[in-house]
Amino acid sequence: THRSRDCFARSSDVIPSGVNSTARAVWSGWDPYPLFVDRGTGSRLFDIDGNEYIDYLLGLGPMILGHRPQKVTQAVVDFIQNRGTVFAMPAADEIALSEKIVAAVPAIEQVRLCNTGTEAVLYAVRLARAFTGRKKLIRFEGMYHGFSDGVYWSKHPTLETAGPDKTPKAVPQGPGMPAGLDGSLIILPWNDVEALRDAIAREGHNIAAVITEAVMCNTGCILPEPGYLEAMRELTAKAGIILICDEVITGFRLSLAGAQGYYGLEPDLSTFAKGLGGGFPVAALGGRKNIMALVADGTVSMAGTYSANGIAVAAANATLDHLVTPGIYDTLYERCQKLVDGLSKVIADNQMPAYVTAVGPVMQLWFADKPIRHYRDAARHARHDVFRTWWEEMLDRGVLFHPGAFENLFVSFAHTDDDIAQTVAIAGEAMRAV
Ligand code: PMP
Repeated sequence: THRSRDCFARSSDVIPSGVNSTARAVWSGWDPYPLFVDRGTGSRLFDIDGNEYIDYLLGLGPMILGHRPQKVTQAVVDFIQNRGTVFAMPAADEIALSEKIVAAVPAIEQVRLCNTGTEAVLYAVRLARAFTGRKKLIRFEGMYHGFSDGVYWSKHPTLETAGPDKTPKAVPQGPGMPAGLDGSLIILPWNDVEALRDAIAREGHNIAAVITEAVMCNTGCILPEPGYLEAMRELTAKAGIILICDEVITGFRLSLAGAQGYYGLEPDLSTFAKGLGGGFPVAALGGRKNIMALVADGTVSMAGTYSANGIAVAAANATLDHLVTPGIYDTLYERCQKLVDGLSKVIADNQMPAYVTAVGPVMQLWFADKPIRHYRDAARHARHDVFRTWWEEMLDRGVLFHPGAFENLFVSFAHTDDDIAQTVAIAGEAMRAV
């Protein structure tokens, strides 16, 4: 890793913290140093020191078709060569993409394109506030909805340790801290119907939106308990609260209709990014027509020089054209099940205090001796130290997982049965080394 180390030393002079923002969150505090990437292809990533990895980080999710997917790459190259970098002007391609999204996701009647998940969430929150005329938001401990001030998270347990009134006790203060916790954010534990019911009973008339993922993906992979999403839908609908389903990770990944399709949830608004662009920066916000109408009449403003730019739209069109291929999600799920079964077996064989949670191509291997239902369990019971040692053993053997004990591993459509078999074998070796 000496080249990566040299790069990191060099970059620290010109880039605060040495690597760019998301990468910093991913790599900070980790040894070895950040891997500086040379290239990727299919399920494989190559660093500048010539090491090859089976990649389950997938650029934090976007590489849903694997690295350098042929059809997406070709669509982008063709677009640039033949048409340049069309943006900030209407083009028919963006209609085609919007039609595909509307066709794929039943709860979406209209859609707007933007560049990042953060923007999509920002717009969803604006729409919910304008539609309801209310200000407050409910979000859940350990979920992440991007870096805009209104919903910014902190995963740190002391910031999100709720008292009996279920509100956080310690709020970050000072310049440079997110402004979200200005009293308009109510942070609740997830998978807890009573907490939600209480909060809505107490101040539902002030609450514009509940924002949630249908599977908690930024604290490992925590699945919704039976009935939880249904209860959330019912409670919000009764109180006139907009339900925003954040599908930035799960969209087009758990199914063509995202996690909402998988679980049969019908949110009012939904946000998409990552998988949508097959590796190119494009995001979307969609929902019911009567809410989206507030964009058309100018009540809610949306902007962005690069929104719906031709290159990103070409990439997304090519990605979705591939994802509508009949049966491909079934094959993906079968392959993922092999990984889950294989990892579960090596955990049992090695008598590790660990287990796997998964829904299709999103999963996490928890080193914990108690089941994890929500963020507070993870904060208390997840064994970062063991995870980290195991993660490094995996990396040394050529498998790249997300380095955070609270994060996800993703499987792409490019991963093969051989990749899975190799990964399971390496996971066993790495456990014995731990
Ligand atoms: N929502 C969720 C659920 C996410 O996981 C993320 C990014 N990890 C975001 C929103 C923000 O997306 P972006 O990084 O594209 O701004």
